[in-house]
Order: sequence, then C-alpha cells, then structure tokens
Amino acid sequence: MVHLENLSKIYRTKRGEIKALDDVSLHIEQGEFVVVRGHSGSGKTTLLLTIGGMLRPSMGNIVVDGKDIYSMGDRRRANFRAENIGFVFQMFHLIPYLNVVENVILSSHSGKKKTPEAKKLLERLNISGRETHKPSELSAGERQRTAIARALLNQPKLVLADEPTGNLDPENAAEAVGYLSEYHRNGGTVVVVTHGEAVDQFADRIVHLKEGKIQQMEDNG
Ligand code: ADP
Ligand code: MG
Repeated sequence: MVHLENLSKIYRTKRGEIKALDDVSLHIEQGEFVVVRGHSGSGKTTLLLTIGGMLRPSMGNIVVDGKDIYSMGDRRRANFRAENIGFVFQMFHLIPYLNVVENVILSSHSGKKKTPEAKKLLERLNISGRETHKPSELSAGERQRTAIARALLNQPKLVLADEPTGNLDPENAAEAVGYLSEYHRNGGTVVVVTHGEAVDQFADRIVHLKEGKIQQMEDNG
C-alpha cells in the first residue's frame, strides 16, 4: 500500500540545513496497522506529511496504492489524497465556524449528499446529538471523534494519524484509537505516528524512528 524507498527530507532554513528524514525505506502492506514511534523532533510529522502527499521529499520515492504520488501534478495529487487518504491530527484541525456535520462532509467531493452517511458515522462514533454544535462547543474527545469521522467518511484506503491522542485524556484516547482499530479490522491500512505508547496494543508493527532514521522494527503480534 505504501512503499518508501530511500526517502530523505532536508529543510533549508536561514540557520542551515536540517535533515528531518535520512534514507528511510519502509513498506506497509494493505491492511497493516503501523505505529511509528520516536521522540519529538525525530521526523514523525515530516514522514507522515510526505506519505500523505503534502510534503515533497528531497530524495527518494513514495508509491501509495501503486501511484508514484509526487510525479502527479498538484491537482491530481490533491484529488488522489481526497479519494484515498484520511488524516487525523493532534490538534483536530476542525473548521471553527462549521458545525460537526459540516466539518465531517467537508472532505467529500459529493458534499451535502453525504449528510446521511456522516450522521450515521457520527452515531457510530458516539457523537450523535452534537451534529449542529460548533467545535468550540465540544469536548476534546468529541472533537477528535468528529475529526476521525471526517477522515473515515470517504472510506479511504489509508488513514494517517499524527499524535491522534496527544490532546486527550486516557479514556478518550482509548476510545479514539478504538475507532481507528475498528477501521483497521474492517480492512483499512493505518499509520499512526506518536511519541507515546497508548496505540501500541493495536499495532501489527512498531517502527522506531530516531533522528530521521529507522532504528528498529518490531512485529507486534
Ligand atoms: P516530530 O514530528 O517527530 O516531532 P518533525 O518531523 O516535526 O518531528 O521535525 C523533524 C525535524 O525537522 C525537527 O528538527 C524539526 O525542528 C525540523 N522541522 C520540521 N518542520 C520544519 C520546517 N518546516 N522547517 C524547518 N525545519 C523543520
Ligand atoms: Mg510531530
């Protein structure tokens, strides 16, 4: 599903170059749940953004679902992303002036037609009754569940999550990760990057990242 070959990413800043990814090669099978673990600054977000088609690597190749995503034009890559990849972020990234349902259908090309499906998903994710609330009127757990509903609405082949439990208490963290795990049990491919250990129990494989390099991979089950 995801093939990374000799991936490097160098950020060029006024104070010099930062090598955020250093020759990373990784193959993720369809239906795998992979956790990428590393300390802050180890390159986790950079890795996730490059897999997601949002950040071009400095060197190397990325093939997602058989497509060399950075050989596509920007618009095609954006469409590919919308159709195939769901994203979940630590800070939820909900649009403050849209309500819960509107936030969930935002990621869909078919827009309002998806409202019934969005409502069903919200029910499944234990946020029914909050459809017309704005994000500011939700708890952190409800915000993240809304964001997960948004990520899952298009039934993506791949879900990428960046510290999805970073702003949640243990109970809400377990619930949020439980929905990612359910999506995985139904055949989805999941990559979670995190510095914590809360997600490990669901992982097929744990990849340890340090200073932009893969240090170790463990099968987990
Ligand atoms: P993590 O998500 O594991 O904390 P990041 O991928 O965010 O790590 O960052 C990896 C390294 O790249 C860090 O040293 C960070 O400071 C640097 N970095 C991240 N984004 C940028 C950027 N846009 N410009 C310059 N340096 C960056
Ligand atoms: Mg990060």
